[in-house]
Amino acid sequence: MNTAFDVIVVGGGAVGAACARELARAGRSVAFMDPDTDEGQAWRAAAGMLAPEIESRDSDDPTVALGVAGRDRLVVLAERLKESIGAEIGLWQEGIAHAAFDEADETLLRARVAHQRQQSLHVDWLDAEEAKTRWPWLGPAYGALWAPAGGGVDPQRLVEALRADAVHLGATLITDRALSIERHGDKVAAVRGAERYPATDVVIAAGAWSGLIEGLPRPLAVAPIRGAMAALPAPEGVGRAIVYGKGAYLMGRGDEVTVGSTMEYAGFKNEVTAAGLARIFAGASQLCPALARSPVTRTWSGLRPVSADGLPLLGRDPSLEGLWYATGHGRNGILLSGITGVLIRQLIVGEPTVIEDLSAFDPGRFWKW
Ligand SMILES: Cc1cc2nc3c(=O)[nH]c(=O)nc-3n(C[C@H](O)[C@H](O)[C@H](O)COP(=O)(O)OP(=O)(O)OC[C@H]3O[C@@H](n4cnc5c(N)ncnc54)[C@H](O)[C@@H]3O)c2cc1C
Repeated sequence: MNTAFDVIVVGGGAVGAACARELARAGRSVAFMDPDTDEGQAWRAAAGMLAPEIESRDSDDPTVALGVAGRDRLVVLAERLKESIGAEIGLWQEGIAHAAFDEADETLLRARVAHQRQQSLHVDWLDAEEAKTRWPWLGPAYGALWAPAGGGVDPQRLVEALRADAVHLGATLITDRALSIERHGDKVAAVRGAERYPATDVVIAAGAWSGLIEGLPRPLAVAPIRGAMAALPAPEGVGRAIVYGKGAYLMGRGDEVTVGSTMEYAGFKNEVTAAGLARIFAGASQLCPALARSPVTRTWSGLRPVSADGLPLLGRDPSLEGLWYATGHGRNGILLSGITGVLIRQLIVGEPTVIEDLSAFDPGRFWKW
């Protein structure tokens, strides 16, 4: 291809499509590349929960603030995508709970409620009776952390809408796989796939496959972590709800209940195993004992891009000018897609970022040479 783009985004999944859309909105000539195959892309498998309060790993996890900003951004995006191209991303916000099934979990979750409230997050503790009243189908819980702003989107509709709106705003979608990054001295020059695509800036947003691209200055600390899911007919009364339990969560969407998910180190092998399903069902039937009598209607899996410290990589390469990373979003890349697009656009354009301190996500943190 002879056209030289201002920016090429490698990957058209949740994160890549959001970056391409934002850069097109900023008036950059932008292309985003995706082979558009079905080989375990995380966005095709994701549940689509927006749960920063529940997914936080510890009291100082910097992804909580990023996640809350991510959820706010998706609320804005839902409106904008509807106005722009009439797309509906299935956003709903009716709260998410994390139920405790023993004293140790109760202590942990109560402490999390106290800590998050000190950080001005809206979370509550529901005692056992309140939890049972709210979810009569719930197993014998000691109580639950309740995050009323939690909710979900439909990840496939989100990605399709982000892609379509990026194109609507002037971006070019290239159906091709990036094989390598070409440099000219200390600067990025092009992306090579089936053709050569020249660009001033390149954003690596290829999910779990990001580290396979040749020509990156250093090995990328992002690996695939497989997640398996299953769907069953909803037991009576479950309706629309998202509740986490011990090692599993349940997402009720009307007629169907989705349960997930495993965290498996299996390389790029995208498959559902009996052992994986057994782990999910142990947790899911504790959450909702009636599920034990429901037939499984579908199973599927996908590969999450997980970094060595579990935090995303957002920002520039420390030495190769024009190379940027937007990857490693792990379990929360749907939640973080929109805000990542905004941050990458602001960094490339040179504007102040909506989240001032991005040092925890600096790609350079892994490389001391
Ligand atoms: C089972 C499961 C459940 C999940 N549930 C949730 C959830 O409830 N909430 C949440 O926020 N997140 C969830 N996630 C995580 C979320 O799906 C990921 O974090 C998110 O999809 C990451 O986005 P991404 O664009 O970086 O990667 P992906 O979604 O994997 O997309 C990467 C894209 O890059 C393309 N690509 C790959 N290699 C190349 C290349 N060489 N050149 C060009 N393009 C390339 C791929 O085709 C793909 O389209 C879940 C994931 C799984 C697997």
